[in-house]
Amino acid sequence: MTERIPCKTEGCRATILPTTVAKTGGYCMPCHQEQERQKRQAYIEQHRKTVNLYEDMTDPVEILKIMHAPRQYDPLIQYVPYPLGKEQMYVSLTAEEAGRMLKYALELLAAGDNSEADEILLSLVCYRNDNITGALPELMEQGMYHSGILFKDAPPDIRDRLMQQVEWDEDNRNHLLLILSWIGDPVVVSRFQEWRLHPPEWAGQLFVGPEIYAMEGGWELTPDGERRDLIHGLSYAIRVTDEQRDSSAEASAARFLKTSASICPWCEGKLTILMDVDTSHPSVAYLGLSLERLQMETCERCGCFGTIYMELDRQGVPVWSQFNRKPEYLPSFDSEDISGVDVPRLTLSDEPHSPFYAATWSLSQQDSQIGGHPSWVQDADYPVCPCCAKRMRFIGQVDWADFDKFGEGIFYMFVCPEDKVTAALYQQS
Ligand SMILES: [Zn+2]
Ligand SMILES: [Zn+2]
Ligand SMILES: [Zn+2]
Repeated sequence: MTERIPCKTEGCRATILPTTVAKTGGYCMPCHQEQERQKRQAYIEQHRKTVNLYEDMTDPVEILKIMHAPRQYDPLIQYVPYPLGKEQMYVSLTAEEAGRMLKYALELLAAGDNSEADEILLSLVCYRNDNITGALPELMEQGMYHSGILFKDAPPDIRDRLMQQVEWDEDNRNHLLLILSWIGDPVVVSRFQEWRLHPPEWAGQLFVGPEIYAMEGGWELTPDGERRDLIHGLSYAIRVTDEQRDSSAEASAARFLKTSASICPWCEGKLTILMDVDTSHPSVAYLGLSLERLQMETCERCGCFGTIYMELDRQGVPVWSQFNRKPEYLPSFDSEDISGVDVPRLTLSDEPHSPFYAATWSLSQQDSQIGGHPSWVQDADYPVCPCCAKRMRFIGQVDWADFDKFGEGIFYMFVCPEDKVTAALYQQS
């Protein structure tokens, strides 16, 4: 039997074989590896260089090009981040500068750097609502159909080509239908209606009828074959603020993520007021609600497992709806979980942003907003109003990742203004 020798590290109780001693100088493998790791770390810290790729740069286009460029990870280089995010940069570009970014994206496409080009085009379309139709022929040439929103302003000739392509291009059919939903013009609307009345053979391979794809573009096909919009173009960001202005008009215009006095009948925790907004604010005034405030409530815990409806009473106070159906699965929640929300102060931005600002969830922006297009993490999902059976209108969303370093998932908010019913649903990656 071979003799085992204690590891040299003080306090380590491992014993090791003489062969290991020869290799490590008397330490057990875990201790030896820890020493090596510490040596590497010390070397990195001693030799790490701080690199500022943006030093002395003033041209926002050149700065954005660097921000988009793929960067290889090197532990010996610490890059200084640019003080502004890409989305802030895009919003502040002049039309001339945005045109240079579009030209750059086309150069990248020609060189085969498709994912970088895709991200730039998405940024121009979402953050600025710029027209990029000049890039569409090249996207089609390269078979890049996966970012449907890029085609939303497609001219009639391209739209017609895409509508023909849906019929035969089985590989891209899913993406092509999403593209058509983003185009959503009268010709597309009547084609969707035609498909509903006379389902094409290929429709059998889809999970839902072709007309259901309309929701991705923010609308539904009514029973009469009309387009009915489910989103509103006027969109305001919901952002964290340091300012203490509780008594001011802006603060009372909208409040977010407060603990409600009402109790969830399923988990018996307090409900959360996702949003409480003055109905005269332009972001919701179009709804024509005969109420002073629009209040959206849900259960933060049970709401992650299914849609929760609330009915607004005459004063606009949300009341748990009789239409709620308990999800088949609900975990049991500790009473500690039910201590209420603790989030920073949130406020609405003064100026609206692009209705498509947050429409691509995978870009880097914060998503919380009133109005605009939802940032679907999964498929588009507009709940049906339990009273009138129409799809409910999207009125805003709060993304936990915007307020909480460890947070994730988005609560989407909907209303049927006619029946004064609200709904909240949740998606996460
Ligand atoms: Zn050891
Ligand atoms: Zn609950
Ligand atoms: Zn309704």
